[in-house]
This record gives sequence, structure tokens and C-alpha cells, in this order.
Amino acid sequence: KPVVGNLIGEGHVNYVLMFNMLTGIRVSVSRCQAKIRRPLTDEDYQAAHKYSFDFAGNELTPSTKYDFKFKDYAPWVFRELREDYFQLDPADYLLSLTAKYILSELGSPGKSGSFFYFSRDYRFIIKTIHHNEHKFLRRILKQYHEHVKSNPHTLLSRFYGLHRVKLPRGRKIHFVIMNNLFPPHKDVHETYDLKGSTVGREYPEEKLEHNPRAVLKDLNWINRGKSLELGPEKRALLTEQIRRDAELLKRLHVMDYSLLVGIHNMVRGNRDNVRRNTLKVFSPDVPILRRKPTMGQSSKGASSPEAIAMRRVVRESDPQALDTEHVAADAGERQYFLFYQDEGGLRATDEANEGMDTIYYLGIIDILTPYNTTKKLEHLWKGLQSDRHKISPVPPEEYADRFFSFMKAIMRGGEGGTRFKSE
Ligand code: ATP
Ligand code: CA
Ligand code: CA
Repeated sequence: KPVVGNLIGEGHVNYVLMFNMLTGIRVSVSRCQAKIRRPLTDEDYQAAHKYSFDFAGNELTPSTKYDFKFKDYAPWVFRELREDYFQLDPADYLLSLTAKYILSELGSPGKSGSFFYFSRDYRFIIKTIHHNEHKFLRRILKQYHEHVKSNPHTLLSRFYGLHRVKLPRGRKIHFVIMNNLFPPHKDVHETYDLKGSTVGREYPEEKLEHNPRAVLKDLNWINRGKSLELGPEKRALLTEQIRRDAELLKRLHVMDYSLLVGIHNMVRGNRDNVRRNTLKVFSPDVPILRRKPTMGQSSKGASSPEAIAMRRVVRESDPQALDTEHVAADAGERQYFLFYQDEGGLRATDEANEGMDTIYYLGIIDILTPYNTTKKLEHLWKGLQSDRHKISPVPPEEYADRFFSFMKAIMRGGEGGTRFKSE
């Protein structure tokens, strides 16, 4: 069974859903993109544009094989986020997502029932979300936007779009498009989903044999004696960013989020070649609008003095960063972000800030769970069985503080010369 996901071809149960999601994105996003940029207004955060797709087609939508309705939420806000803060090239975004009309499906890795789909080039993730998460994201969109503005290097999930598909029999599916933290060109050898909670936060090590890429948790991290090997410079920067991000999440009253940590061992390299073996080329016979993308101005912040200076901070601290392995010619938007600019991630450094043989892929994910009645009940219930401060569902204030302390505690400068120990 492929590890990274199954390609969705015709006949797959979710083929029609995927097809409709991508058609909706292509049509709605290029529509917004074709207009001249204007400053955002308060209404833009609440906006929802409706599209109706059918075989006949109309002036807004092309003719399609399947009937469905599509909603594009806050298109102007997401456009600004993508272009000004997330450094995505508009044409590139649409092409990556929809040029080939094929995604790979990760199924439902979490308990929530959400589905995850990767764009073909593995850069973007589509995650189906619960109606509550959808309502919540709309409600906090302005604060999220503000945060991203003042924290260009935020570790929070980068949301590129929020949409809804409604199938004829009435099923409504909400989804977001976000950044895949893991790079397309590097094998991730270990993955941890860390919350700072220790109750039940363990993947059984004995099962790893059958599922070597399983996502490990807090207790696995602790029992294996792991740490984030970061020298003083990167440690300070990362700590400060996590602190700010956790502060926002606290203010928004969310909890249950985690720090996702992917670890690439440069000595081991890419010999497993997981993705390249899995993502075979597949060209379904589906119509693609061959309209020349009418795109706004290209992103400007990319070469801003600030971005360049930020890149330098890290580059200069590990001059050998480029020696060990082949470097992808174009690091894409990741090169503009402090924590994603070493091979798409953050290279480990020792106490002298010298590069080590590990690259971390880090981000704070699953940030749309408000502390509501369900979570409060879960807190009470789990609290009866275990220490009520160590369980996963605790109030947002406590959650954020515990999260931040845990992350601070797991960072440490690697001892000079120490290298990642291969198994
Ligand atoms: P639950 O609520 O049960 O925790 P969920 O369905 O909300 O699950 P997430 O916690 O968002 O799902 O993600 C589940 C897993 O999917 C993560 O542990 C991680 O392995 C992978 N994943 C999620 N988001 C990303 C991302 N942006 N980049 C790479 N991998 C991701
Ligand atoms: Ca989660
Ligand atoms: Ca969740």
C-alpha cells in the first residue's frame, strides 16, 4: 500500500468530488484573479460567491459533466493572503492544483474524519473540514489575516482558500487548501505530531515495523530522547515565532492543534524515494480550460529587503548547507520564509550555529478547533480518568501555555560535531 496516498482515477469513490472541487477552484479563483486588485473591505471577510455548474453551462461557469454547486469564501481576502504574504504566484497556484485534475488521497489520517488530498506536485493539501471548523475560520479570518501580516514567518497553517462543494443530493463538503509542510523532493524519515500533552499520546512502537512512516506522538518523542537540534540563533527565532503563534491561538480560543515535525536525515538522503515511486503520471480524459491565465501582478514581497535580510540570517549561519546534497533548482515560495528556506525546511544547527545533517519540516497544524461544548465535555470525561492537566483537551489558555513550554523544552543546540545517528 502506497504510503503517501492513492491516486484518484475515474471510478474512485471520490473521483466526482475531486473533479468538482478542482473545477470549482479553477473557475472561481481565476475569476477573482482576472479582476484588478483593490483594497479589502470588511465585507470581503464575510463574502461568499456562489457558482452553479451543469452540463448547459452559463456566462459564469463552463459546461461540466456533473451538476454541482460551489461556493468560494472570502475570495479577495485569500487572494491577498496568497499574493502578498504567502508569496504564491497566481498562475502557478492554479496550475499546480488543477492543471492535471488529479490528486492523491491520503484518506482520513486523523480521528476527525477529514480527508486529505495532495495536489499532483505535492505542494498543496486539500483538507475537508467540519462545518464548525468552516464557520470558525470565517469568523476569525480577519484576525488570522492580521496575524499573517505582522508575522510573515508564522508557523501556522497557510490557508490559501476556503470553499464548499454541494452535490446534487445535498451533501455539502467544506474544504481548505493549505501548504504541505513536507517537501516534494525529500523523503521524510520520521514524523511527529506534538501537542505537549502526554496522556495517550503514543504510537505503539511495535506497530512501526508494519507501518514505518506512522505519525509518532509526544511520548514517542520523549521515550526516544529526541530533541530539536537548533543552535542559539535558530532556537531564538523559532521560540519567538511559536510564542507569538500560540498567543494568537490562545486569543482565538482554540486548542487541540499540534506542532508537526518531519525529520529528514541528510545522510540517509532520498534513497527510499517514496513519492517518486508512488505518484505515477496519470492523465484522465477530462476537459481543461485552455484559457491563458489572466493574472495580476506577480508577488512583490519576495525580493523585499526584509525577505532578503531574513534569508541571509540563516544562510550565513550554515555555509555548508548546499554541500551535502543535490539542491532543487527552484525552492519556490518556501525560500522566502525563515523556517522553510533550507531545502524547504529548517536545517539543524549546533551550538556554533553550524549546519548539521538534519532538516526539520515544521508547522502548527489543525488550528480550527474552538474550545466548545464538545471539547469541554471531553475535558471533563478524560479528566476523570487521568490527570486533567496532561490530557489533550484542556482550556485554550492552559493548552497554549503547555504547548509553548513543551516546544521550548524540546529545543536544544546539537553538540558540535554530533551527527544524526542512522539506525
Ligand atoms: P484530528 O482532529 O483527529 O487530530 P484531523 O483530521 O483534524 O485529525 P490533522 O490533525 O489536521 O487532521 O492532520 C492529521 C495528520 O495529517 C497530521 O498528523 C499530519 O501527519 C498530516 N498533515 C496535516 N496537515 C499537514 C500539512 N499541512 N502538511 C503535511 N502533513 C499534514
Ligand atoms: Ca490533529
Ligand atoms: Ca482536527
